[in-house]
Amino acid sequence: MYRRYLTKFDLDKVRKEYCNVLIIGTGIAGLYTAVNIDEKYKVLMLAKNSIKENNSNLAQGGIAACISKDNDKKFHYMDTLKAGSFYNNEGAVKILVEEAAENIEKLIEFGTNFDRDEKNFLRATKEGGHSRRRVLHSKDETGKEIIRALTVKVKKRKNIIILEDTFAIDILTSKGRCIGAIVKSGKEIYCIISQVVVLATGGIGQVYQNTTNSKIATGDGIAMAFRAGAEIVDMEFVQFHPTALYDENNKKRFLISEAVRGEGAILRNSMGEAFMKKYHKLKDLAPRDIVSRAIFNEMNKENKPCVFLDITHKDKDFIKNRFPNIYNQCLLRGIDITKDYIPVCPVEHYIMGGIKTNYNGRTNIVGLYACGEAACTGVHGANRLASNSLLEGVVFGNRVAKDINSYIRNGNYYIYNIKSDGDQELVEKDRIEELRKNARKIMEKHAFILRSKKGLEEALIRIKEILEELNIYKRDDESFYECVNIMTVAYLIVSDALKRETSLGSHALVEN
Ligand SMILES: Cc1cc2nc3c(=O)[nH]c(=O)nc-3n(C[C@H](O)[C@H](O)[C@H](O)COP(=O)(O)OP(=O)(O)OC[C@H]3O[C@@H](n4cnc5c(N)ncnc54)[C@H](O)[C@@H]3O)c2cc1C
Repeated sequence: MYRRYLTKFDLDKVRKEYCNVLIIGTGIAGLYTAVNIDEKYKVLMLAKNSIKENNSNLAQGGIAACISKDNDKKFHYMDTLKAGSFYNNEGAVKILVEEAAENIEKLIEFGTNFDRDEKNFLRATKEGGHSRRRVLHSKDETGKEIIRALTVKVKKRKNIIILEDTFAIDILTSKGRCIGAIVKSGKEIYCIISQVVVLATGGIGQVYQNTTNSKIATGDGIAMAFRAGAEIVDMEFVQFHPTALYDENNKKRFLISEAVRGEGAILRNSMGEAFMKKYHKLKDLAPRDIVSRAIFNEMNKENKPCVFLDITHKDKDFIKNRFPNIYNQCLLRGIDITKDYIPVCPVEHYIMGGIKTNYNGRTNIVGLYACGEAACTGVHGANRLASNSLLEGVVFGNRVAKDINSYIRNGNYYIYNIKSDGDQELVEKDRIEELRKNARKIMEKHAFILRSKKGLEEALIRIKEILEELNIYKRDDESFYECVNIMTVAYLIVSDALKRETSLGSHALVEN
């Protein structure tokens, strides 16, 4: 049903660039992998947009890590498993927890400024599902601060070159091995031949109508890996963040971090009732899947498009100082969070599934690695614990780098004659936009917080139709590639959701 490559090319004839390591993605996973690669190797990094446009840069709440001397590791381990409905890969969770501190130290050494108290100790907050305060933060823009520090570090390294506005169309594979990628920059399509390729392409938010994610989150890495024959797993597990700012006019939803509830904010329905006590003993700080479903239930009961988050009981200066970005963004929309309730609703936020990797980021294709949100080590199980994603990016990014440093020591370049035909018909951009919109509507309707077998079956039929239509088209621009990638990811989510016949974690089934 699916073509292998989205563009026509002949590897013998196109321009080729060479490097030892090609990293696709400049979010936390890509940047952290790059700085840990041995300086003797030439590293090329791709960002399809600017280096700053990614989900990492948007991360607000923080990065979870046990840095205290008491025995918090076993609690972090258990909280991660509980949030993930015990579907997690326990080995991966152990690694995450054990290797957190050393990677946080490295981030600090690289220049990341986390918030500190008067005695210069790191401040830690709580978020949903955490039994202890262990979330380190930099006000409410933790991701931005980490990306700032890592970007400075990467730019100082002579062996690393960042190519912005360069779109990876597909990875090149032959005889079970990945040998590089075919990319587009401006109007030129060319190949990068590399000893290894790392997919650090992030999430899939744009598959849904409403999302907290950046516009780059179209699941490109997962879709290209799938086309190349990589194993993709657990795609039914999509996390819906409970508290995105409700905004009728904007599909890209501004996130109200869980850290706001961590500092005491309370969810209320339109009657002012603090409803979370009816749903879970941890009330407002229950794991995300539970809070999202509770909000969805309250919204449906009241037939309202949102519920409310109330932090008005906290000191005004504390709120402004602790959450300056959230305070200002809400104020711009006419909401003074020190006095007003914040309208919120659940939207797509994160995918737990992705490209299957081992503990060192290796996929089933030789020379192909994945890390960050695009990868699935199984660490998050069926629902990610808050603030474990930035941590995953550094812990497994570091492991990918270490593995590559040993793997390519004696490596060679492989070049095979790969050709791809392109006798499809040219499609108009408007049709692509229309299909993209349709896909996002289908996913929002049938593969959202509550799913039914009938709805998923309907979605699968429609998605397959769209994929078949796309299969007869060609168009060498990013909107076409992204549209195929979005549809491919939609297909993977819905077909995995249909295979899981009982509810688990973020995958909640209801009667038709
Ligand atoms: C609003 C928001 C708040 C969040 N808050 C937190 C938090 O507080 N704590 C936490 O742990 N997690 C948080 N998360 C989740 C976390 O930020 C992400 O899961 C994580 O940053 C993903 O990092 P990444 O490096 O895998 O991907 P990203 O940071 O999204 O980077 C992806 C990169 O891949 C590149 N790319 C993609 N496709 C292509 C292509 N075809 N060609 C070339 N380049 C490509 C992009 O240009 C980009 O550089 C939040 C997410 C959002 C959206």
